[in-house]
Amino acid sequence: MIRRARTRRHRPEVNCREVGKVLQSYLDDDVEPGFADKIAKHLEACRDCGLEVETYRRIKASLAAKLPEVDTAAIDRLRAFGEQLTSGDE
Ligand SMILES: [Zn+2]
Repeated sequence: MIRRARTRRHRPEVNCREVGKVLQSYLDDDVEPGFADKIAKHLEACRDCGLEVETYRRIKASLAAKLPEVDTAAIDRLRAFGEQLTSGDE
């Protein structure tokens, strides 16, 4: 029996909700290559998600470099964004 996985191969495109759910895994290279490719395409086409991933990347880079200049407002916004996605309310 196949449970609904986060990588739904039968769908040609991923939507914003799916991208939001796996964004951190995607940035950690923790998704299947084929799925990562779909995400990359979505990020190119979708400005909202593109901006989100850029913010994530900057936060990750800041953390990796141990810089104190992480934009806390952006983190709050991302957290709200993620909660919005997972709660199903829009
Ligand atoms: Zn999107």
